[in-house]
Amino acid sequence: MKMKTTAIVLAAGQGKRMQSNVHKQYLLIQGKPVLFYCLKTLEDSFIDEVILVTGKGEEEYCRKEIVERFGMTKVTKIVEGGKERYHSVINGIKEVEECDYLFIHDGARPFLDEGILRRTYESVMQNRACVAGMPVKDTIKIADENDFAKETPRRDTVWTVQTPQVFAFDLIKEAYGKLEQEEEVLKEKGVLITDDAMVVEYFCDIPVKLVEGNYRNIKITTPEDLGVAESFLADKI
Ligand code: C5P
Repeated sequence: MKMKTTAIVLAAGQGKRMQSNVHKQYLLIQGKPVLFYCLKTLEDSFIDEVILVTGKGEEEYCRKEIVERFGMTKVTKIVEGGKERYHSVINGIKEVEECDYLFIHDGARPFLDEGILRRTYESVMQNRACVAGMPVKDTIKIADENDFAKETPRRDTVWTVQTPQVFAFDLIKEAYGKLEQEEEVLKEKGVLITDDAMVVEYFCDIPVKLVEGNYRNIKITTPEDLGVAESFLADKI
């Protein structure tokens, strides 16, 4: 039986660390907006449908200048995001009509590729929850409140986590539903939700599998990332 797969692409961030007036997802690499690249990979993949979450007032720009201009036929809805990343995910999930698996991807990660999509898809069918990531290359330190090293986790157990983060749809819908109800409690506890796996870890009794992503699957965050992205595209590295 063919499973239905939907992707939510998040592009509603402010990109404050980019020091640019243009939001990072619209900056150009090799003449095309950052956001174009992951949408193109999804367009050419087995994914059935894409829901794009963008900043308030940016819906028309995205529709005309990215979706229509580049013929992204799988983008069926463009919706407004929210204050935090998880608010944007919630807005996206509300637009998903029934599907089996939901892929949540940062629009600021242009180097999504078919291999990552395949590996996470295979894993989610087995595990119900998985995220792309890579083992760290550097040693990681946990800092105390004064920036003194407090702890050093064993390097071979530490991963940096990327997107896509992929879940059985009923599971992720339930997890975010609980987050909506408990948001104030989490805030009071000082819990900061920075990815989707955290929501599942927090509210569901299902372990999230870490799946090999790609060291190139970077998030465009600071100005130097644009140079790195240019060289990846020029295939210089
Ligand atoms: O801010 P951060 O780097 O974690 O953003 C990761 C992704 O989430 C980016 O693609 C960004 O556009 C998106 N985002 C969003 N809504 C927010 C914050 C971030 O869609 N409120």
